[in-house]
Amino acid sequence: MTAPAVSAPVSPEDTALTYDDLLAAVTDPSGREVLDPATGELVGRVRERTAADLDDAVAAVRAAQPAWAARSDADRVALLHVAADAIEAAAEPLAELLSREQGKPLNGTGARFEVGGCAAWLRATAATPLPGGETVGDPDTPAVLNYRPVGVVGAIGPWNWPMMITIWQIAPALRMGNTVVVKPSEHTPLSVLALLHVLDGVLPADVVRAVAGGREVGAGMAGHPDVDKVMFTGSTATGQAIIRSSADTVKRLTLELGGNDAGIVLPDVDPQAIAEGLFWGAFINTGQTCAALKRLYVHTDVYDAVCSALTEVARAMPMGRGLDEENVLGPLQNRAQYEIVAGLVESARESGARILLGGDPDPQAPGNFYPTTLVADVDDANPLVAQEQFGPALPIIRYTDVEEAIAAANRLDVGLGASVWSSDRDAAREVAGRLEAGTVWINSHGMVHPFIPFGGHKRSGYGLEFGVEGLKAVAVPQIING
Ligand code: NAD
Repeated sequence: MTAPAVSAPVSPEDTALTYDDLLAAVTDPSGREVLDPATGELVGRVRERTAADLDDAVAAVRAAQPAWAARSDADRVALLHVAADAIEAAAEPLAELLSREQGKPLNGTGARFEVGGCAAWLRATAATPLPGGETVGDPDTPAVLNYRPVGVVGAIGPWNWPMMITIWQIAPALRMGNTVVVKPSEHTPLSVLALLHVLDGVLPADVVRAVAGGREVGAGMAGHPDVDKVMFTGSTATGQAIIRSSADTVKRLTLELGGNDAGIVLPDVDPQAIAEGLFWGAFINTGQTCAALKRLYVHTDVYDAVCSALTEVARAMPMGRGLDEENVLGPLQNRAQYEIVAGLVESARESGARILLGGDPDPQAPGNFYPTTLVADVDDANPLVAQEQFGPALPIIRYTDVEEAIAAANRLDVGLGASVWSSDRDAAREVAGRLEAGTVWINSHGMVHPFIPFGGHKRSGYGLEFGVEGLKAVAVPQIING
């Protein structure tokens, strides 16, 4: 494909990209092995880039930025739609590569959902009203607030939703006239390279470039004098390192960091009615989701009923290799994360907590599969509650007074999301307003929407993504006064 006929639609017939074509475009025969977390088989090989490659990529996107910013907003909107068309046309091979590399199932809220979400998010970002134009003061000589591009945006991503998070970072940046360098996670580089390969076919040269590499490439980006803003999604510890590396250049940052989201179930719920929502709130992407439900506080009046309804739902959800169409849960993406989950469940078991389901991985089985695990009667101070498990193990804590549950939910130094579950929406909203979290959902958990701002509280980070606020975050406000 050639770039960029601004409004030319891309159809599946135009691309007919196969899985083998896509893999061949991103794999390097002499590169590092990338293994399938479900089987240990080779997926492909990635060429690790260096700090010098980062410099080249930054120089290229910086050179391309003025022309990109000089295009009309209508052109950029049209190109975001063409980019969405291209992703839809390549959706099946993209989903297959994502499933093989990340481990997530094709079905459910898995790889096809993520690829579809990338296209949908590009279109929603294209449809978001531009910020700016507000006037204050004397009508003849008003002060006008406008938003200019930042320049070059660096996008550093994690391994759990590698394609979706890349789109969350680059779509608003492009809309606002910035160009972007993307540093994918070392665990899922091929998925991101494949996504950007598809976009390369339809976007002007060098508006987005990828530099696959390790931590040092990310650190280099955070300190780079020609990167004007870093959008980072990942752990709190890495976010703290990025703050330090970016200090000398006073770089703008959006930090979407770790969480340990609490859910509070009030005594008036119907346990059967909420069980499936609770399950997917916690186990979306096999628990490897920043804003998943990670500790569940249930009132003692409904505790046993909620535990048993949740266990029934969880028992019925098939886990296995992502490419097998029946599965809706997959492996942990990497062994280090598997060890974290296994260790935390052991700490709960040793403390006398009751394992309702799972907790018994087969050490001989191939892949990083940890079974769906529910842990009851666990103490609030247990590491399985106090630390982010980021996997398929949910602690369920009993409470008797809602004040106690609110205090427990707010006790930690992170606050990404939270949820309140009740038949009385007003009562739930009242509790929600007292929780220290960037988003509090009522009777659901973790659903994000491209027009609803999303961001963390406390050590879950700062800055907002999505909607008009997300566009402002990749722009520089300028007041023209007089
Ligand atoms: P991570 O912090 O280990 O890595 C994320 C990225 O940062 C990778 O690309 C890595 O190479 C890079 N990196 C590592 N050290 C760096 C440094 N010193 N400077 C710059 N970049 C560096 O995170 P992860 O393990 O990939 O992701 C899991 C974590 O991400 C969890 O804590 C999860 O809660 C969080 N997360 C948050 C959100 C959110 O929106 N808040 C979304 C997804 C994941």
